Amino acid sequence: MSLKHPFAMGITRLRKEPASVLGFELSGRMDDLRVASSCVGDDELIDVVGIAESVHGGILITATISAGWKGECRRCLGVAVGRLEISLRELFEREETGAQRFAEGDTYPYSGDVLDLQEMIKDQVLLELPLAPLCKGDCKGLCATCGKDLNLGPCGCGSTPVDLGWSALDALVDKDR
Ligand SMILES: [Zn+2]
Ligand SMILES: [Zn+2]
Repeated sequence: MSLKHPFAMGITRLRKEPASVLGFELSGRMDDLRVASSCVGDDELIDVVGIAESVHGGILITATISAGWKGECRRCLGVAVGRLEISLRELFEREETGAQRFAEGDTYPYSGDVLDLQEMIKDQVLLELPLAPLCKGDCKGLCATCGKDLNLGPCGCGSTPVDLGWSALDALVDKDR
């Protein structure tokens, strides 16, 4: 494995000095970070900041991943954007010794003097991406009848909103009049 990869780091010192700690800051881009309605784009920079510790059984990574995401609002179908800030702690085990001791998925493998965080980053980002994002918490969505974006104002076609939540809000508005 080479060091060309943006999320790979050399860990020679960690392996030579038990109980040592290595701080790291990595950043790069990644393909295929997509769930149903949101993604971290191919051109989006993903930052990973943390420490790697040589511990019994492997190398412990404590880090924060941060990256912007974009997606389609589930109510108005407009653009929704946000930022992931993921804190994690994961154990990497040497491939030779770890394979039998732990079921796959509990830890990540590494071999030689290089630790590659790519798979771990991918797993974490896919878990955290919103499946049904909103452009904003109070997005009004589209009129069920005429299709107008109600964030831009009422449409005037007088249809009753289908969403129960909005009916409740309408009642409140009526009271204020
Ligand atoms: Zn929206
Ligand atoms: Zn309408």
